[in-house]
Order: sequence, then C-alpha cells, then structure tokens
Amino acid sequence: MSDQRWIPLSALQHYAFCSRQCALIHNEQAWADNYLTAHGNLLHQRVDSGEPETRKGVRFERAVQVSAPSLRLIGKLDLVERELASGRLTPVEYKRGRPKSDRSDEIQLCAQALCLEEMLGISVDSGALWYWQSRRRVAVLLDSELRAQTFGVIAQVAALLDSGFTPEACFDGRCRACSLVELCQPKWSSEDVSLDYQQALFKEEQ
Ligand code: SF4
Repeated sequence: MSDQRWIPLSALQHYAFCSRQCALIHNEQAWADNYLTAHGNLLHQRVDSGEPETRKGVRFERAVQVSAPSLRLIGKLDLVERELASGRLTPVEYKRGRPKSDRSDEIQLCAQALCLEEMLGISVDSGALWYWQSRRRVAVLLDSELRAQTFGVIAQVAALLDSGFTPEACFDGRCRACSLVELCQPKWSSEDVSLDYQQALFKEEQ
C-alpha cells in the first residue's frame, strides 16, 4: 500500500448509516457519545476482555486485529470462531441493538471476512451478527451480492476519506438515533433548510 490512509472497518458501517456521519468522525475527528454508543462501547469492552477459549471443538479468539492492505482496511474483530476439525473461520460482530432494516452491519461483517481472507489466504463463507437487545444471533451468508455491495462501500469510503469532504446533512429519521446530532445540526446544515432560511431572511430585509 502507498501512503494512502487506512480505512477503519467501523467507517464502513458509519458510511452505510450516513455518509455525513462517516466524514464527521473520520475526516473531522468529531465524536460524541450518547447512551446508545456508550452502551455499545461497554458491550464491546466486555466482549474484548474475554480470554481465548475452546469449547466443543471450536476455538474462540477475541479482539482480533486484522488488515487487508489491498483494500486499505484495518480494524479489530470482536470474535473469530475457528472449527478445529475443519479450520473453518466465522467472524462474529456484537451489536447493541436489534437487526436493522439496512445492510450496514452485514457490510461491516463482510469487510471483516475480506480481511481474514487476505491475511490468511482462505475463504470465509459466512459470519454472524449477535444482537444484545434481542439476544439473537443472526447467521450472514457472505454471498456475491453482499461482497459487491461491500466493495462498493469500501470504494465510496476511500473516496470520501481521500477528499476530506463532508457531505450535506440528510435530516431524516436516522438523525434521531445519531450520537452526532448536536455536532451535526442536521436541520440547519441540510441544503434545503438553509436555503429556506436564507430566503426568509432576504424577504425580511426587503
Ligand atoms: S445527525 Fe443526521 S445528517 Fe447528521 S450525521 Fe447524524 S444521521 Fe447524518
């Protein structure tokens, strides 16, 4: 890899949620905890602090550092399960909430698998998402469609990080759950609203 920036795995999920959130965090180094992110951090700390162990023919490795230089990806995996008999690897990502309607969690998981594949020269066919709120483990097939989506997001995030640009705010339902809402001020930084505001000021001056 040249001297281009690495792409944190978390940036893919941030981008898939909101491109502005991704730029605020990774280009502007803005971060703010709300109760959702604080709880998520606690959950990850608990997962990361677990010792490696072997149960029923499966080795559980926690807080596994990975990278994929060809894709500029770098990050840490919550858990990697290795079946001792077959050598099959399964990345497992822990999430605070419930399964989402978008594919942002699956994209992050798929990128984790791409890192394992590049590092170890193996293929990883599936992963799993474990949701704390619903206490549900969801198996995720890393098929060609999800891989294509993930490569697309990686390319978009790479372009965003290289540009240093921060997109306009969306100001929609996502903002309610966003920890950056105070910093972002989506109502005022979204183009249409600021245009309305400018036009209203202009009218008042006339
Ligand atoms: S507040 Fe809304 S527009 Fe701003 S970063 Fe969060 S989701 Fe994106």
